[in-house]
Amino acid sequence: MEKTDIKSLTLEELQAEMQKLSEKPFRAKQIYEWMHKKLARSFEEMTNVSKELRKKCEENYEFTALHAVQVQESKIDGTKKFLFELADGNVVESVWMKYKHGNSVCISSQVGCRMGCRFCASTLDGLERSLLPSEMLDQIYEITRLTGERVSNVVVMGTGEPMDNYDNLLKFLKLLTDENGLNISQRNITVSTCGLVPRMRQLAEEQLQITLALSLHATTDEKRRKLMPIANKYGLDELMEACAYYFEKTGRRITFEYSLVGGVNDTDEDAKELIELVKPLNCHVNLIPVNPIAERDYVESAMEQVQAFKNKLEKNKINVTVRREMGRDIDGACGQLRRKHTKNI
Ligand code: SAH
Repeated sequence: MEKTDIKSLTLEELQAEMQKLSEKPFRAKQIYEWMHKKLARSFEEMTNVSKELRKKCEENYEFTALHAVQVQESKIDGTKKFLFELADGNVVESVWMKYKHGNSVCISSQVGCRMGCRFCASTLDGLERSLLPSEMLDQIYEITRLTGERVSNVVVMGTGEPMDNYDNLLKFLKLLTDENGLNISQRNITVSTCGLVPRMRQLAEEQLQITLALSLHATTDEKRRKLMPIANKYGLDELMEACAYYFEKTGRRITFEYSLVGGVNDTDEDAKELIELVKPLNCHVNLIPVNPIAERDYVESAMEQVQAFKNKLEKNKINVTVRREMGRDIDGACGQLRRKHTKNI
């Protein structure tokens, strides 16, 4: 029989488990706090829990823990990129960024990805498996331990498509924002999707206060299909409707991510079309100069082109920022570090 993954249980679920083991309910809270507040790496560390109960836990539950196999630090901006090994030997990457307003962690939601976006390194070898809620939490917990600093913002923007791992994502969000755990504010969490429309609508109905980021990258269905296979399944019309629905249900403005690829989606015409597309929505546009990967021949837009693009949007009163490129010198782009490690190149 497979053991239950104890770190993916809510406090209520853990209380039910303790009852099954004929333990007092307060034991659940103790163990929960060891896992989610004190960030213990094993049952052994839980010193105010009796040896006997710790042994019972060992027998009944799986306790996930990651270990860092590689840490790279950017000489430019102090960004740190972590490569973590999971219990089954798979590796995932997470990024730690220091901003004036606090520390931000970008986590992976899957090992690999099956969405197939043309410019992205994470998807080149397809999907290996989805991460458990505990394995998403562990990336944040381990980084907190290793840096000794509190994490205030979390972005689910690393390898994987979070909406393709929906149930685990929701459980992860619940645990991450729980007052008995790290208690991270929903407003400080962003989930990025390539645009799985039914899931976006489902998330809207949860009425959470998290930010939804949509990876747009193109302004017509035809252009988007060339960059993102998911665009064959969901067209821009229904995508924009889903974004409007998210705002309607949550009051949270959408972030549109737009990676500028030289000569592909960075012309004046593209800027004009983008303005038309997003103007009706309460939103923010994040322009990202594409991070070229070796396997594809996409190039980033010239700096003047990026600036001109941004100016056009601003003139039309669209909130826009050019994403600061963090950790460019340490394989900052999605999936590059993991790929290097597994291919040993
Ligand atoms: N699957 C989700 C989250 C992971 S990707 C999504 O698609 O949103 C996080 C963001 O990085 C997405 O906007 C993605 O399109 C972008 N991205 C991936 N590879 C990139 C690259 N090489 N250069 C610039 N942006 C990239």
